[in-house]
Amino acid sequence: MIAYAIHTKWKFIVEFEDEETGAIEGTLGEAADRDECELLVEDEMEYQRLRGNIRVTAEAVELCEQCEGEGSIPVEDGIVSICDACGGRIGILSTFKRGRGAEMISTQFHLRPAS
Ligand SMILES: [Zn+2]
Repeated sequence: MIAYAIHTKWKFIVEFEDEETGAIEGTLGEAADRDECELLVEDEMEYQRLRGNIRVTAEAVELCEQCEGEGSIPVEDGIVSICDACGGRIGILSTFKRGRGAEMISTQFHLRPAS
């Protein structure tokens, strides 16, 4: 069996809703690995919460470092080459989400001390 290690990077978006205007905005970022990405996402979400944005959610995706999920890389005009870093694999390798929603509310509900 051949271990096939793909060099990857993470891209993330933190979306937040402005309490006053209702406008949804986002922050984009990039990280070298999942641990770093989770830290950056948590920091950004915390920052937006402190600014008073009512809804903050985040989504991160892991992509091939070389082709960013395209499966191929442009060589010259109109010519693309199969990405040799991932063998031409197209799309997202893995993903995670963070957010304040129904999940968090139900968690808080379960954590309420019994009286
Ligand atoms: Zn690739």
